[in-house]
Amino acid sequence: MDEPDLKCPACSKGDLERGTDEIEIPHFGRVIHYYMRCKICGYRVNDFAFQGDFPNEDKIEIRRKEDLEIKIVRGSGATVLIPELGLELYPGPLAESFITNVEGLLNRFLHLMPLFDDQKKVKEIEEKIGAAIQGKLSFTISISDPSGISHFIRN
Ligand SMILES: [Zn+2]
Repeated sequence: MDEPDLKCPACSKGDLERGTDEIEIPHFGRVIHYYMRCKICGYRVNDFAFQGDFPNEDKIEIRRKEDLEIKIVRGSGATVLIPELGLELYPGPLAESFITNVEGLLNRFLHLMPLFDDQKKVKEIEEKIGAAIQGKLSFTISISDPSGISHFIRN
C-alpha cells in the first residue's frame, strides 16, 4: 500500500512515518501494534489489534473441586455457556475481557443474579452455583470466540 505521508499534527513540520510491530502479551497471545511517528518531534499515534490464535471453540468438564482452579481468558467477543447451571454470557456493548478461574467465573455470575426478575429461577440457579463452587456438581463450560483470544489455561 502506498499511502501519502501525513503531516504531524503536533509540530506540523515533520512527516508521520508508519510502522507495525508485534508484542506478546501473556495469556492474550499476539498483539499487532500499529504506530505513526513524527520524524522531527517524535509525536506518536498508537493503535493495537489483538491477534488471537487459539481455537474458536473450546470446552472443559469440571468434575472435581481442583478443576475450579482452571483459568479462563475471556475476550470481549466471547460467548460463555454453562448449560447444567443455566448460565450464559454473550458479547455486547458492556462485555469485558477478563482472566479468572472457574470459581471466579461462577462468582461473576452470582453477582449478576440480582439483575434478573424471576426470583424463583434466580434462587434455583444460585443454589446450583453454590453446589458447583463446593465441588458437589459436575458441569461443562464452553467458550466460543471468533477472535481466537478466549481459551482455558489447563495446568
Ligand atoms: Zn512532529
